[in-house]
Amino acid sequence: MVDKKAKVDSLVEQILYHKRAYYSGQPVISDASYDRLEDELRTLVPTHPVLELVGTGEAADAEKVPHDPPMLSLAKTYDLEELFAWVKGRGLVGTFKVDGVALSLVYKNGDLSLAKTRGNGRFGEDVTAKIRWVSDCPGKLQGQVPSPIEVRGELYCSEGGFARLMGEMETLGLEKPTNPRNIVAGILGRKQHVELARYFQFFAFDAVVKNETKLFHTEREKFSWLSAHKFKLIQVEFLDSKESITAYLQKAKDFWEDGDVGIDGVVFTYDDLSTHEQLGATSHHPRYKMSFKWPGQTAVVTIKHFKWLTSRFGIVTPVAVIDPVYLSGAQISNVTLHNAAYVKLFNLKAGDTIEIIRSGEVIPKFLQLVKAADGNFAFPSKCPSCDSVLTFDEVRLVCPNRTSCPAQRLGSILNWIRYAEIDDLSEKRLQAMIDLGLIEHMSDLYRLKEEDLLKLPLTKEKMARKLFNNIQKSKNLSLPHFLGGLGIEGMGRTSWEALLQNFPSLDKIVNLLEVDILQVEGFAEKTAQQIVSGLKAKKEDIHKLFAVGVRPIAFEPRKVESGVLKGKTFVLTGALSQPRDEIVKKIEKAGGKVVSAVSMKVTAIITNETSSSSTKAKQARELSISFWSEEELEKHLRSLDDS
Ligand SMILES: [Zn+2]
Repeated sequence: MVDKKAKVDSLVEQILYHKRAYYSGQPVISDASYDRLEDELRTLVPTHPVLELVGTGEAADAEKVPHDPPMLSLAKTYDLEELFAWVKGRGLVGTFKVDGVALSLVYKNGDLSLAKTRGNGRFGEDVTAKIRWVSDCPGKLQGQVPSPIEVRGELYCSEGGFARLMGEMETLGLEKPTNPRNIVAGILGRKQHVELARYFQFFAFDAVVKNETKLFHTEREKFSWLSAHKFKLIQVEFLDSKESITAYLQKAKDFWEDGDVGIDGVVFTYDDLSTHEQLGATSHHPRYKMSFKWPGQTAVVTIKHFKWLTSRFGIVTPVAVIDPVYLSGAQISNVTLHNAAYVKLFNLKAGDTIEIIRSGEVIPKFLQLVKAADGNFAFPSKCPSCDSVLTFDEVRLVCPNRTSCPAQRLGSILNWIRYAEIDDLSEKRLQAMIDLGLIEHMSDLYRLKEEDLLKLPLTKEKMARKLFNNIQKSKNLSLPHFLGGLGIEGMGRTSWEALLQNFPSLDKIVNLLEVDILQVEGFAEKTAQQIVSGLKAKKEDIHKLFAVGVRPIAFEPRKVESGVLKGKTFVLTGALSQPRDEIVKKIEKAGGKVVSAVSMKVTAIITNETSSSSTKAKQARELSISFWSEEELEKHLRSLDDS
């Protein structure tokens, strides 16, 4: 599966390259060789848009198309108390608000028939030809789906995708956009080069159908439908207390700070869809949704010089040092320039005037180049921490010295300290421990004695004892914390919890294969690869931690009923031969559930009258839900326990 995607990508690249060469009058290969490339791709993906591309892909003028219902704006607040007042104790679903372009995808009979931008909310632009290039927007939905159904979400460009896209635009001789934030709208607005949309990604945030409460009861059901139909979601969580909301907002900030994807806030929606109907919307925004934002402030500054910092993953990130300015209530003198590719593409150097943005109390970021100074950008050739020769992977500079680069070592021990929740052990103290030669690896922490800790600056007996106890106490940490502490790229505590739910022991986790991981909802190929290779690389770390007595606490998965009908939901209707209570009991004993209303969640209608014209039966037919007779139900109940 992994190989197939790489193969498809490579074929698409080759076909595009040769198409352009051909249309510019300078073909590089023979027509026959070219046809072979197309044939090969056709066997892998018969409907790939590159196969239907006429010429080099000029699109017609975008057409205006209406939205029904309109894509309204969102009410927003910057104030936590105001948010809580709006919540009024209701259950909410939170999702991050990605900084991109809102898009509506209309599916008829399961096929993507129209993709349109939000536009002014009443009318958008038809961008279907471009969206066929976005792999996150499926061209066809699997299984029985309501028709039409509209999926709404945000089209965006990650930092990595942006750098690659800019590189390609440069080779195509296209004018570069000045601002990474506007790239998505910019590409969607172009008449030419529909294929550039393949650098974009899409997160779904809503499913819209007529009579939606017949299909879904809650916002959560909508999201699980979207996920089941291969739409990517961004950090969707159910929240039912002030604490969970506050923790969720913190998670959004963390994501923002070290994520590859820009977010500009969080959107909360009441979970119960019947309240949506009751509350309705103003002409501007629905009353059951609220976005929470952090006020952002921008400033125009001059780059004094560059700092290159090596992260715990070995990525060497450019930081611009500027004269101090006040932004969102703090004095700023460092600005992240995202990654090495930005420096190259914008030709950033000392003396340049740039616009920066800071919001949500996170580290300020480069927004756009305002005025360029003379000269050319320069990359460091060696790691600022360990002097290893750096490699450039098209987007990022990387220090290949995974085992003994001090910056990577410091970063990974700090990560362990954070996950093991060792209080009073600051970065300064850790640096001092390393400088004094007290530790080299996170496991060395557990060998430290009180007298070792007394050697640290500003650490008297009382603090040394406290630190010692804090470190020893952290030996027994939860398994998700233990795994998070190992520092595998892209894997935090909540992601580990989701995996552990399916593979609930360290033993199972370290032996995972990519195929196992792909079966878990929310895990894509790239993450699966990172997990497997990451765990392999961390084997020694795990041994070392066990050798000093670190013992993660056994993980207890949430209880899921077992039985042949596990996870299945039924509706009973019409006359039945046994008392209803009896049937309900049998279904529940086998792990199933009986509900009264028909919705997408329902596995089957239990009835002996398959041609019944009751409302429930009609609804079920509309949704293509199966009908089981009592006899069929008994047959399922008798089948062997397959769980
Ligand atoms: Zn290094």
